[in-house]
Amino acid sequence: MYLKNVTLTAFLAYALLSGCQTQKPATAPSEDTATTVEAAPAQSETDRKIEDLLSRMTLEEKVGQMAQITLDVVGKGGNRFYSAEPLTLDTTELRKALVDYKIGSVLNTANNRARTPEQWYAIISQIQDMAMNQTRLKVPVIYGVDQIHGATYTAGGTMFPQQIGMAASRNRELVRRGAEITAYETRASSIPWNFSPVLDLAPDPRFSRQFESFGEDPYLISELGVQMIKGYEGNDNSIGHPEHVASCMKHFLGYQVPTSGKDRTPTYISEEALREYHLPSFKAAIEAGSQTIMINSGIINGVPVHSNHDILTKLLKEELGFKGLVVTDWGDIEYLHTRDKVAATMKEAIMLAINAGIDMSMVAYQYEPFCNGLVELVKEGKVKQERIDDAVRRILRVKHNLNLFENPTTNPADYPKFGSKEHEDAAYQMAAESITLLKNENNILPLKKGMKVLVTGPNANSMRTLNGAWTYSWQGEKVEEFAGRYNTIVEALQKEIGAGNVTFVPGVSYKMDGFYYEEFADKMESAIAAAKKADVIILCLGENTSTETPGNINDIYISDLQTDLARKLAQTGKPVILVLNEGRPRVISRFEQQMKGIVQIYQPGNYGGDALADVLFGDVNPSGKLPYNYPHYPNALVPFIHKPSAEQRKAEGVYNYEADYNPQYEFGHGLSYTTFRYANLSLKEKVKMGEPIEVSVQVTNAGKVAGKEVVHLYSSDLYATGITPDVKRLRRFEKIALQPGESKTLSFTLTAADLSYTNREGKQVTEPGEFEIRIGDQVRKFMLEGPDLVGTN
Ligand code: BGC
Repeated sequence: MYLKNVTLTAFLAYALLSGCQTQKPATAPSEDTATTVEAAPAQSETDRKIEDLLSRMTLEEKVGQMAQITLDVVGKGGNRFYSAEPLTLDTTELRKALVDYKIGSVLNTANNRARTPEQWYAIISQIQDMAMNQTRLKVPVIYGVDQIHGATYTAGGTMFPQQIGMAASRNRELVRRGAEITAYETRASSIPWNFSPVLDLAPDPRFSRQFESFGEDPYLISELGVQMIKGYEGNDNSIGHPEHVASCMKHFLGYQVPTSGKDRTPTYISEEALREYHLPSFKAAIEAGSQTIMINSGIINGVPVHSNHDILTKLLKEELGFKGLVVTDWGDIEYLHTRDKVAATMKEAIMLAINAGIDMSMVAYQYEPFCNGLVELVKEGKVKQERIDDAVRRILRVKHNLNLFENPTTNPADYPKFGSKEHEDAAYQMAAESITLLKNENNILPLKKGMKVLVTGPNANSMRTLNGAWTYSWQGEKVEEFAGRYNTIVEALQKEIGAGNVTFVPGVSYKMDGFYYEEFADKMESAIAAAKKADVIILCLGENTSTETPGNINDIYISDLQTDLARKLAQTGKPVILVLNEGRPRVISRFEQQMKGIVQIYQPGNYGGDALADVLFGDVNPSGKLPYNYPHYPNALVPFIHKPSAEQRKAEGVYNYEADYNPQYEFGHGLSYTTFRYANLSLKEKVKMGEPIEVSVQVTNAGKVAGKEVVHLYSSDLYATGITPDVKRLRRFEKIALQPGESKTLSFTLTAADLSYTNREGKQVTEPGEFEIRIGDQVRKFMLEGPDLVGTN
């Protein structure tokens, strides 16, 4: 892959020239400049300590720091893949890993099972005790886990909606608050490093991890990604604070767009596309100070990203100036040899990855070949000593910044707010704001409280599907065991309107011990019979939980059995409200027209059932907006960001035709129980290049109930040179609350850089010419005058 060596300094110069603001969130508290100034000497003191430590380390000690193992490796049990329960550590194995091999990092939980804060504290204390008292240089271990939508691997922790729901909320403050709580509860579990946020661009509804992302728009991902990082690390990235954790941006980059739609399979991405769509979220996150990054396990343009020097060193470390720690994804160095076949031996794989710019290998099991192989490679001159020093310096800096040398563990006793009501309320609030009302024929919603309701469908009585994967275990299959005290949709509805008004018959159920896609008819005929006696049917469909390769899909239609259930219920003539609870938008067009109301809840977490019940019965006015295009057909997966030819209106002549851009629901769609009217979109007709572009619009709540509205500002570049412009791009969004009859005028300032695109040389360019601004149903054109403004990307 060809990537030019353009510098971040050049970009910043461009940004300044064009009045481009760095990606500071609009709602973030202002930065305390005094803190920034004071932080500088502390940083150099850290550097001095790191250099001193580095100068005393042997090659083996350095290489050990670069290795990360999974907890099962040191758990007492039959082998490295399994630990006996109750979990205890095998001190012989622990000593071998930490003392003999000088391993610097541990991840994950044992037996794929969440632990209580006290268990985490006991385990991690034992590990740190060995690292700090029995190794020569007393370097603490850095422990990392995937607490990606709350304290997901901590029993009793607070579970938020998955990132896709957070994106639907469009609420920067709630995203940040959620991350603050997750950081607190992760530290309450003695863990200082969180493999989150996911900053992948996720335009492919087939991909098994779309729910882990903020959706398919680079600006939305960048804005919310920055909030999440600030929530984890604090405004000034003070990760040593006992309530903060180090974030880990992932998966750098282009991970969620494999050509086949299947996890860890190849893709082809042009350099312009990589820079225009996939890079911005990572660039914004690096500018926000995130200190660690995880690499895409896939293959771009034939080259596995873990062996791509252009991406890992030239782009990430040199051009973007990333000074933090680069960690592989699970087993990815080994995969260069065993799966991707770019290395004939394991040792060659290590050489390729480390020379490409990897600092730490998530080994995760067989650490000996990695450590021995890397030591040999350095001795043979195939990996330079400076590369090793660079990697170890980056690792030690994060350990120092985390304050691990002084406080290698944090004690749950110091975290009284773990799993508290305050934290639960924040998770509920996020779930409530994520819920997206897709269809509301004749205002069937909200429902009236006296109604008799049939609740049915495989997702109606499942805590597992409310939470999704990465909840108490990897695929989410242990959720029921841990989440018994929270309400499923059925239970929440019983609380909302009284058990006597709620009948539950599953109709279809998931096979809980099989593949995520296995299901069976479960009293389908009784469900139909019960429907006839109900006033309204709440049909909860979607998919069971899964992620990564086990979540690969062969058919994006919602399953045949669920389709059958939906059609039969509709045939009873009773109104059906479809609740979608899914990790990706499964196609519903075979019965969508028969549904009177449709509510998307994504994977809303432990309070999702309660939030849904409040939305269905009008206690909460829905305000979520789709963070992706919901496809109508399996072979029409056109993303929200697309070119004009994908929706060409008329080609007049003998062969008269139209291109068919036909999402079932488009990105940004989401109804309310009130009506918002847009008026008075104003901006100058002519603006000079470099001048701020001031836009304002008035929004009024024209209905009878209070509500929240997300105001999206889109721009369109009507003509561009060389590269076809996108139809429209999201440039700003704000979420506002309006009482009935209330109006607000919103003002936005755009810069020329906001209107740029990446040209064929990989440069960010803004051309003069005609543009269009669109907010709600308001559209205005304006002329941008002046010479081309060329920056870098
Ligand atoms: C996933 C990562 C995750 C890592 C550690 C990998 O398989 O791709 O997102 O952070 O495992 O659990």
